[in-house]
Amino acid sequence: MESKILVTGGAGYIGSHTLVKLLEEGYDVLVLDNLSNSKLETLDRVTSITKKKFEFIKGDIRDKNILKEIFKNKSINSVMHFAGLKAVGESENFPIKYYENNVLGSIVLLKEMALAEVKTIVFSSSATVYGQHSNNRYDEKTPTKPINVYGKTKLIIENILRDIKNSDDNWSIGLLRYFNPVGAHSSGFIGENPKEKPNNLLPYVAQVAAGLREKLFIFGDDYPTVDGTGRRDYIHIEDLSSAHVRALDYIQKNKNILFTVNLGTGRSYSVFEMINAFEKVSGKKIPFKVVERRIGDLAEFYADPSKAEKLLDWKANFDIKKMCEDTWRWQKNNII
Ligand code: NAD
Ligand code: UDP
Repeated sequence: MESKILVTGGAGYIGSHTLVKLLEEGYDVLVLDNLSNSKLETLDRVTSITKKKFEFIKGDIRDKNILKEIFKNKSINSVMHFAGLKAVGESENFPIKYYENNVLGSIVLLKEMALAEVKTIVFSSSATVYGQHSNNRYDEKTPTKPINVYGKTKLIIENILRDIKNSDDNWSIGLLRYFNPVGAHSSGFIGENPKEKPNNLLPYVAQVAAGLREKLFIFGDDYPTVDGTGRRDYIHIEDLSSAHVRALDYIQKNKNILFTVNLGTGRSYSVFEMINAFEKVSGKKIPFKVVERRIGDLAEFYADPSKAEKLLDWKANFDIKKMCEDTWRWQKNNII
């Protein structure tokens, strides 16, 4: 029987875009998602884009019985693990929910993987594991000291994976630290679709441009940056999803390794630069009001992406114009 990739959280924003790439590359895929932050229709749209079939099981990574069934019957050889909760503010207010879903969920998954002798995994980590440092350019050697519960859950899972690797060299593990994923598939069929008020900048800007929200609230213009607003390393979702396929290829070919890479473009943009770029591509004015800084926000950080370039032969290709164009196409036509 042919072997499959288990994609946890495959109906979500990053998972669904990576699913498209995996299917386009000819991988056989099984998606496990509890749809807590996504919709089934996204998966139908993935089928429309790729014209390829894949299996979907609605279920939770904390449910060991579902995992046992999957590993027993579905010939899984590798896992891409996207399933998780990701709202920083919510994680501060509901830490148990975050530790339970992200950390406990990962432990249940990893235990069932070990029992089934499936020891290849690509994990969605985050640049939030780094926390604040005096240097804005973060390479993978930058010390990790997350400042919020969400970031702590990611670091704990990374460390669990490192310990598993130390105990059993047969594991192959890719830890991918994303910077700021934005944009949508160029078809406009799938994209980020926050259920609640968006926390992140670009989805909020897009909703203002679409007339769904009155104005953007800029969280501080008194940072020590050129225009006073926060600067981030925004990376197009299609670049990010390509990196996942490279990472999977890499750990499948070079067995018994653990690597950690940053996924970013290597440069930052300010809030005002993002607004200007969005206004240009959408032809819409984005009204805004400057308000207090958001607690926990850093002035600036961006990736040193050179390790991913060297190791995975991967580089982000898409610029902010394309990030805004694809976000706008998705926002205008296809909110589901
Ligand atoms: P998302 O919420 O769109 O996708 C996550 C998916 O996981 C959703 O479909 C959700 O229903 C599912 N899920 C959550 N808990 C689950 C559980 N216990 N069992 C089964 N399914 C579950 O988020 P995303 O932006 O696609 O993020 C994917 C991963 O990447 C997450 O782990 C997130 O922490 C990480 N990440 C995201 C960003 C970002 O800015 N989007 C940045 C860094 C890291
Ligand atoms: N930001 C803002 N208003 C918003 C959302 C974000 O001014 O409604 C700013 C935020 O302060 C930061 C940048 O935009 O400087 C990116 O924020 P986002 O939440 O998208 O990413 P993160 O801060 O998690 O890296």
